[in-house]
Amino acid sequence: MLTVGGVPLSVEQAPNIAAFLEEAGLATTQASSLYLHIPFCFHRCHYCDFYSVVDTHRQHGDFVDRLLEELAFSAERLSLPLKTMFVGGGTPTLLEPSLWQRLGAAFKPLIDGETECTVEANPETVEEPLLDVLVDSGVNRLSIGAQSFDEGLLKALERHHAPANVGRAVRLARQAGIKRVSLDLIFAIPGQTMQMLEADLDQALDLEPEHLSYYALTYEPKTPLFQRRAGGLVEQVDEDLEAAMFERVQARLAEAGYAQYEISNYARGDLEVCRHNLVYWQGQNYWPLGPGAAGKLGALRWRNAPALPAYLKSQQWPAVVDVERLDEAGQIGEQLMLGLRLNAGLSGQQLEALLANDPASTTRRAAIEGFCQRGLLEQDGMGLRLTQQGRMLGDGIMAALL
Ligand code: SF4
Repeated sequence: MLTVGGVPLSVEQAPNIAAFLEEAGLATTQASSLYLHIPFCFHRCHYCDFYSVVDTHRQHGDFVDRLLEELAFSAERLSLPLKTMFVGGGTPTLLEPSLWQRLGAAFKPLIDGETECTVEANPETVEEPLLDVLVDSGVNRLSIGAQSFDEGLLKALERHHAPANVGRAVRLARQAGIKRVSLDLIFAIPGQTMQMLEADLDQALDLEPEHLSYYALTYEPKTPLFQRRAGGLVEQVDEDLEAAMFERVQARLAEAGYAQYEISNYARGDLEVCRHNLVYWQGQNYWPLGPGAAGKLGALRWRNAPALPAYLKSQQWPAVVDVERLDEAGQIGEQLMLGLRLNAGLSGQQLEALLANDPASTTRRAAIEGFCQRGLLEQDGMGLRLTQQGRMLGDGIMAALL
């Protein structure tokens, strides 16, 4: 069920973002980051709650037509050249090279040599002709969904690629001239042992990616995996083992020269951090394109309706859902929550600037003090950040501060 301001709506009834922008005084505000959502997958993995449809290429052409229209209509909302552009999904690399050529021609006027342009890829869809088109389009970063190198664990995740295809995708990307490669990996997969984790880490590090995103498996409500766990068909990895795995990931990646800069993200040096994700964590603006894509301008947050048929029929901007206009306290809570995801945390100056204007500052200062006393947050002359123990419980701490 779609909702706008808590009111249930059909996609046909849902408004677009124009009136909300006007009402919030954001009618001329621009974003210098763009997120495009390509909502196609070749099958649905049972742990995933991203919006995508399983499709046999039938709708890809119509989708690209509509996305280009939406992009043209959004041009005034974008501050050019873009700082970052991220094409996620779904599986962006399912689109044929000829369709990517059309997307690429539209992207080029938006970017320059400094723009970070990332595309997410599934290993089995990475082929030379596609990579050549991506590079011609200005794509300079590929984020490859490896998840694991263990066939049994990939099966447990319902991922269908062969582990060897990850290395092949990395090599092809490098040959095509893509200098920045990131691998997405998951730990605490049902059935995973410490030895299996070490083997995954060995294989990931052998590929020498510039960046790694290493997430604990989450059981998102409404996913088949969540239902299977509830029905006793899947056994979740024990909490202590999951914590030990997280520590091991951090230690191995640190030994290999990757700095953890966010709870689940590691980079070989400052230049390799994902600048697009930093836009989210630093509370900057980003504009969404495609069904299911989320956007933020000033105090407004919203999502294009996750409904491909309605999207294809829409004109100008698509219908939106989950529109939220945060008040002062809400924005401060969000900035605290997002800033603490980063290892650097919030500087003393940032923290004081936030709390000085915070209507809920007394409650929040007390919560921060409580977490510091429990050893979950640490505050010093440099600022406020999660401790190692706090990183294990990051979500709970951030929810309390929100
Ligand atoms: S995990 Fe990736 S490939 Fe699997 S359904 Fe989700 S978006 Fe598609």
